[in-house]
Amino acid sequence: MSNITEILLQLKDKNITFDHENISEYVIRHKKSLVLYGKLTYTPDCCPNCHATNGIVKNGTRQSRLSLCQISGLNAYLSLTKQRFYCKSCQSSFTAETPIVDKYCFITNRLKQKIMDTLAETISETYIAKQHNVSVHTVRRIVDKVSSTLKVNHNTQLPQHLCFDEFKSVKSSDSAMSFIYCDALTHQLIDVVHDRKSSTLLDYF
Ligand SMILES: [Zn+2]
Repeated sequence: MSNITEILLQLKDKNITFDHENISEYVIRHKKSLVLYGKLTYTPDCCPNCHATNGIVKNGTRQSRLSLCQISGLNAYLSLTKQRFYCKSCQSSFTAETPIVDKYCFITNRLKQKIMDTLAETISETYIAKQHNVSVHTVRRIVDKVSSTLKVNHNTQLPQHLCFDEFKSVKSSDSAMSFIYCDALTHQLIDVVHDRKSSTLLDYF
């Protein structure tokens, strides 16, 4: 089975060739860890700088160590050799990209997804960071990203008729009372605003 690593890791990019024969055990950040190896290369459609379609040549490689989800309780990494390219038209260099990880990031999107799944649990950011071998800062960035996608778009998502009320929510709420509103016809909850003061509501809407 030639694609066993892709399936095990759930990292599916046809441009990555995994080295199925090679897996290493290293101590990384004081913990026994597994390192897998892969190469990323393809023929680019065009130069991302000048958009030239011709005159792009392969020009060396760059090594990245990407954090993966744990394997058998051990922290795991993918040592990915990424192809570098040189554009003869604008004399610029660029590196091959892959959907398994964002540009300039070393945490795979699969691991970010796993962290997002954990956010639904009532556990601390510190614990999530420790569990997934990432920094608390990384967990906070993912929380911010998720919360921004959950924000209500007032231009397109407000119903014609609203029902609203105030209620006692959390101690940290500035005015001790929060604002809740729903669709008056379907009774579907739309959002909760952390405080009911008019200045906050004006900012919100
Ligand atoms: Zn170019």
